[in-house]
Amino acid sequence: MEIRYDTRAIELHRDGGISGVTVRSGGTTERLDADAVVLAAGGFQANAEMRTRYLGPGWDLAKVRGTRYNTGDGIQMAMAVGASPAGNWSGCHAVGWDQNAPEFGDLAVGDGFQKHSYPFGLIVNAEGQRFVDEGADFRNYTYAKYGRRVLEQTNQFAWQIFDSKVTHLLRDEYKIRQVTKVTADSLEELAVKLEGVDNEAFLATVAEYNDSIDQSVPFNPNVLDGRATAGITPPKSNWANTIEDGPFEAYAVTCGITFTFGGVRINDQAEVLDDGGDHVPGLYAAGEMAAGIFFFNYPGGSGLTAGSVFGKIAGANAAGGS
Ligand SMILES: Cc1cc2nc3c(=O)[nH]c(=O)nc-3n(C[C@H](O)[C@H](O)[C@H](O)COP(=O)(O)OP(=O)(O)OC[C@H]3O[C@@H](n4cnc5c(N)ncnc54)[C@H](O)[C@@H]3O)c2cc1C
Repeated sequence: MEIRYDTRAIELHRDGGISGVTVRSGGTTERLDADAVVLAAGGFQANAEMRTRYLGPGWDLAKVRGTRYNTGDGIQMAMAVGASPAGNWSGCHAVGWDQNAPEFGDLAVGDGFQKHSYPFGLIVNAEGQRFVDEGADFRNYTYAKYGRRVLEQTNQFAWQIFDSKVTHLLRDEYKIRQVTKVTADSLEELAVKLEGVDNEAFLATVAEYNDSIDQSVPFNPNVLDGRATAGITPPKSNWANTIEDGPFEAYAVTCGITFTFGGVRINDQAEVLDDGGDHVPGLYAAGEMAAGIFFFNYPGGSGLTAGSVFGKIAGANAAGGS
């Protein structure tokens, strides 16, 4: 089959069923006739206007972890020919991402801007306060929703703080050259280096946190160890170690959006449905733009799984004329 690179689909054609698609390449616009179309053009995470409209204020300033091309075109083209919007339009997958990362993903750095070892440290905002339970669960169950929590903070940043007891546990992404990092031998020195943070409040937060840990429970990074805080809000439910042994390391993060959860309604045959629940004949969708799979949160690894599973089903049905 023919593959066309640098070619953007801009419109679907429906004549009863789907009859083709118009594409643009360079200055040329062309209509391609087809009995079926499979849309797999991603969510609207790279579209600042749609992010703000559907995810809410502040989302215009989120960094985009991946491609600049997933701007919601597929969703909008499908809805223009009758597809029903569905799923969690105000929800998305978003992570803690280096504060100085570029606006869109950088293929040379890839995932390196993510910062996912926070379960072993503390996260503080501009007010020097904690705002999530860093140890609520293994990172695979919290990382995709904590980006939103960072976005909600003053000036949309946070610092992840680690003391020397755990720095050997930090993931590889903490060791890249393009990292926003400070180090210090004392907490007082660290407080001054945390740009944008209320120093005194930060020191008070750490002191209160250190005093709240039940040290009789052994630390074990491989299980939910139950080594928790008591009497502080928010709690830290696992892996609570004191922040008192230098040298300390701190990493500045903002919100990096991965993909959006809202899209078009499909059934288990990857057929795109209209508002009445009927198949738009000849139209299929898969991947991020096929809605109804993720709500509020996301278990690690399931994005590629969803795209592969529904992509295969959609392709087979489109080829078979379902
Ligand atoms: C940095 C990063 C790390 C990730 N890590 C993981 C992971 O470890 N495990 C996991 O399961 N998932 C991961 N994901 C999520 C996973 O990559 C996506 O969920 C999956 O790739 C979605 O597949 P898709 O086909 O819907 O979209 P994509 O793979 O994004 O493909 C969409 C394609 O459509 C193209 N396109 C957009 N608009 C148009 C248009 N108008 N015309 C023509 N083409 C268009 C885009 O250029 C793009 O090539 C990660 C995502 C990112 C960004």
